[in-house]
Amino acid sequence: MTPTPIDLDVAIIGGGPGGLATALALTRAVKGTRVKVFERAKTYRPLGAGVGMDVNGMKAIEAIDPALEKWFYANGWTVPVAKTFDERGNEVKSEKMDPGVSMKKYGKRGTILGWYEIQSAFYRALPSDTVVFDSRFQSYEEDSDGVTVHFAGDNPGPVRAKVLIGADGYFSAVRQQCLNDGPPDFAGTVCWRARVNMKQPLEYSSWYFGAEKVGLLYPISADHMVWTGSAPIKLVKEAGVDFDPSNGGRFRASTQAIEGVDNALERCLKVFEGYPEAFLEVVRETDPRAVAEHGIFTRQAEALPADGWGRGRVTLIGDAAHPVRPTGQGLNMTMEDAAELAWHVQQHGLTAEALRSFELERIPRVGVIVKKAQQQGEAAYKKHAQDASQDNRRFALEDDYTDFKNKKNFRPLYISDITS
Ligand SMILES: Cc1cc2nc3c(=O)[nH]c(=O)nc-3n(C[C@H](O)[C@H](O)[C@H](O)COP(=O)(O)OP(=O)(O)OC[C@H]3O[C@@H](n4cnc5c(N)ncnc54)[C@H](O)[C@@H]3O)c2cc1C
Repeated sequence: MTPTPIDLDVAIIGGGPGGLATALALTRAVKGTRVKVFERAKTYRPLGAGVGMDVNGMKAIEAIDPALEKWFYANGWTVPVAKTFDERGNEVKSEKMDPGVSMKKYGKRGTILGWYEIQSAFYRALPSDTVVFDSRFQSYEEDSDGVTVHFAGDNPGPVRAKVLIGADGYFSAVRQQCLNDGPPDFAGTVCWRARVNMKQPLEYSSWYFGAEKVGLLYPISADHMVWTGSAPIKLVKEAGVDFDPSNGGRFRASTQAIEGVDNALERCLKVFEGYPEAFLEVVRETDPRAVAEHGIFTRQAEALPADGWGRGRVTLIGDAAHPVRPTGQGLNMTMEDAAELAWHVQQHGLTAEALRSFELERIPRVGVIVKKAQQQGEAAYKKHAQDASQDNRRFALEDDYTDFKNKKNFRPLYISDITS
């Protein structure tokens, strides 16, 4: 006997920060919307490292839920000084980070949080039965009234919804069925990162450039910090570390449940041999099980589909829609997606029209960020720290980039009387 489908307004695939933020935005934008998030993990575990929320991401969160914005600022961390070092550990630059400048210019400032804290904050803000764990999306069928969604092992059984949102990350299975445009491109860089306890408070963030690698240390709270190290595949191979982004294996799994990759710490240390002790000391002392290793994947701005990245009653958000190099905008753009999608649904209802108008409005903005992140990412891996830090900063500060990131205000999504 065919089971009766679970009947919903919105089915979201993927319970990362993007899927959760979208669920919250939709429930706030349209009163009574029945939303569920289907997540393949069995439960949430304290994974991830840290995230720098930028002005644009904070504005989007404010539009979604002003109380949550307050929580982000109350629990986020700011770093008063950013220092840059070369590959020998010599200080190249020290910059004061004054949040007042950003407040004056944009009415908001950035803040730093642990990735897991961000995911947990969105999860807590939703009704407790919103996320359905252990549900791996498999396929969907669309007809004139809605979408029927199927999951691996038929768990939790078929789901019927007016719209389907793919928030399932870099290697989105929803995108694969919807657009069938293949996996994202390997950007040529491998990244390691971890969150560690701090013995003493860290008063500044440290960037290490030079020798064609990038290292970064930054605090995310009074007692935790994050390190990241990234290097081009050429250097990874030269260090004798085997990494094949095309093998479809565990590394290709990228940011999905990445922690605990065998020997990731050892492999990172091999690649970063000879790097400054102040960086390596922190890396060496990390619990090996906490180290995430993954390739960086992206889709070029030119590859953004001009007619929208969804079809019919299906759309995508976050990394599924526009994976970018990690220059600090991935999660911020994902928050923008959540706020904007909900606004378009508020205007046009749960219709294909709402999804297309959301995508078409997002494409030019996302295109600029994807392009700049690509340039900024490429400019970081220089032989000499001076060249890398100057170029990295130049792209980060270019007017069209910062203005595009920061000037936009998102329309508040107060609970309205509009019903789905
Ligand atoms: C465990 C983890 C840790 C991360 N840590 C960091 C970090 O420290 N710093 C940082 O900047 N970024 C981190 N990221 C990436 C960051 O969240 C994204 O780059 C970006 O913010 C976009 O978020 P997203 O929700 O679109 O995608 P993601 O965060 O990748 O979330 C996608 C979600 O979809 C789920 N999923 C995938 N396929 C299916 C399927 N078939 N069925 C059901 N569910 C599925 C995944 O399990 C995941 O929960 C991490 C991502 C993950 C998954």
